[in-house]
Amino acid sequence: MTDEGAWSTVRAQPAAVTALRSALRRDEVAHAWLFVGARGLGQRELARGLAAALNCPDPPAADVGCGECSTCERIARAAHPAATDFEPEGANHVVAHVREDWIPTATRSMTEGRRRVLRVVSADRMNEPAQNAFLKVLEEPPASVVWVLDVQDEAALLDTIISRCRRLDLVPWGPHAMLERAAELGVPPNQREALVSASMGLPDRLEDLADPDVATARELHLAVLDRLASGGPGQVVPLAKELTTWAKGRAGAVKERNAAELEQLEQDFGVDERGRGWPPGMRKRVTDRHQRLERREQRRALDLVLDDLASYLRDLLAVGAGAPAGQLINPDHEGPLRRDVLRLPPPAAVRGLAAIRDCRDALDRNGSPELQLERLLLSLALPLYATAA
Ligand SMILES: [Zn+2]
Repeated sequence: MTDEGAWSTVRAQPAAVTALRSALRRDEVAHAWLFVGARGLGQRELARGLAAALNCPDPPAADVGCGECSTCERIARAAHPAATDFEPEGANHVVAHVREDWIPTATRSMTEGRRRVLRVVSADRMNEPAQNAFLKVLEEPPASVVWVLDVQDEAALLDTIISRCRRLDLVPWGPHAMLERAAELGVPPNQREALVSASMGLPDRLEDLADPDVATARELHLAVLDRLASGGPGQVVPLAKELTTWAKGRAGAVKERNAAELEQLEQDFGVDERGRGWPPGMRKRVTDRHQRLERREQRRALDLVLDDLASYLRDLLAVGAGAPAGQLINPDHEGPLRRDVLRLPPPAAVRGLAAIRDCRDALDRNGSPELQLERLLLSLALPLYATAA
């Protein structure tokens, strides 16, 4: 059984659970693990299951935490020193975080529990100085620490880091687990099949699509080719603006939270109406962090736009190759796909997919969202007009 005790929160990753449990049983838990796969597949739950097995004071077996004691319960909600996550604050993990946060946490002596599981979220977003600093920790790992590195893009990590980690591949969720999740998220029954298919086995994407605002926007994103084809080149700029405005709007909740925090801090420090009263440098630090959080939220939304566009182009290739509706990511758009495959021939769709990758890379390097989307839309639009001419 892979789903007992503290492992019961892990879904749809039986091979990963089996690998971790077998390492625990043989007392051969590696000092560092790479959890390779898209975000949200169960990395957090796997790390918590491992921490529970390593720290539960009364485990039913060597490979599982009981899941019920206060240690297991606190580990499950990351309120125990044996379970810590390091999240990137802006686009990247930087060397200051490694030195001032990760290393002190790893080397601090444990007042409770036996082994810490320190999880680096989006570890492939460590920049190179951060990776070099982190490598020193991996070369002489404290015995009481297990590192878990969540990685989507292995190529972004130094070989010397990869070679010191044991690799565990996470897989997309099967349709059964995804349908269950859709029901939990409150997706109306008549939309579940379509949204599960559009989510490509990624529970994070399903969670996004369960939001009616995102589901509505998906319809707009999937109609982008049609708008470009029927509206002409004049559509490129307004459409890019429309898409980025939507992405900015998605950061609205974060903005409100930030504004409330700023107001609270101003009260705490007795800041007057002319902005006097802040401790030196503090206001800038707070607003810089707020900006990073807002940009991250906006980037997540832009990724939703790009994921939708990429799924549509991929489906165009599938339709062009004669795939039945059952093999499409967007089977609910089969009609428009059959129409658009005549407008955008396969080589142009392939170039479009490459342009989407370029767009993501440019956004990673802090390119202007509006300009980058204009470039992308233009590269999709040109072959459309060439076909029409
Ligand atoms: Zn326990």
